[in-house]
Amino acid sequence: MDETPRFAVDRMLARLARWLRLMGADVLFDPAVGGGELLRCARAQGRIVITRDKRLRTASGVIFLTGNLFRDQLREVMRRCPFDPRARAFTRCSACNEPLQWVDRNLVARRVPPFVFAGHDRFARCPRCGKIYWDATHVARALAEIESLLSERIPADVIAAGRAPVRDAKD
Ligand SMILES: [Zn+2]
Repeated sequence: MDETPRFAVDRMLARLARWLRLMGADVLFDPAVGGGELLRCARAQGRIVITRDKRLRTASGVIFLTGNLFRDQLREVMRRCPFDPRARAFTRCSACNEPLQWVDRNLVARRVPPFVFAGHDRFARCPRCGKIYWDATHVARALAEIESLLSERIPADVIAAGRAPVRDAKD
């Protein structure tokens, strides 16, 4: 498996940051940090900067996006820094970037809608914000959306299997 891609995403690209996390990338995103400070943080942490800030256009280790549209931006990132979203989709919280952990099914009984609880065996939780993720429906829907965004087909068996969201809580 290739290494987890590590990015630092500019504060004007919140949606892109969220999606890259859903695709399994390790994404630094902080609305308080931009410009030169973002570049410094990224370099200190070995991250590629993704930005639309013209001042950073010629800096090294920077993917400067020309497109305004989210789809174009995502495609541009995947072209410049390709990785397989299927390999690690849903290993991270889209809000916090925290690696998810498996949780005992019974612990989420009151945290998810009854039909979700009845229909799924495996649940994962963000240790920071507590958001609950579940496989199958959730994953299939998002993979389908990623696929349509990238205009690339994701094999049906991956979707049907409802790829497990996370690593084991013991790890
Ligand atoms: Zn979270």
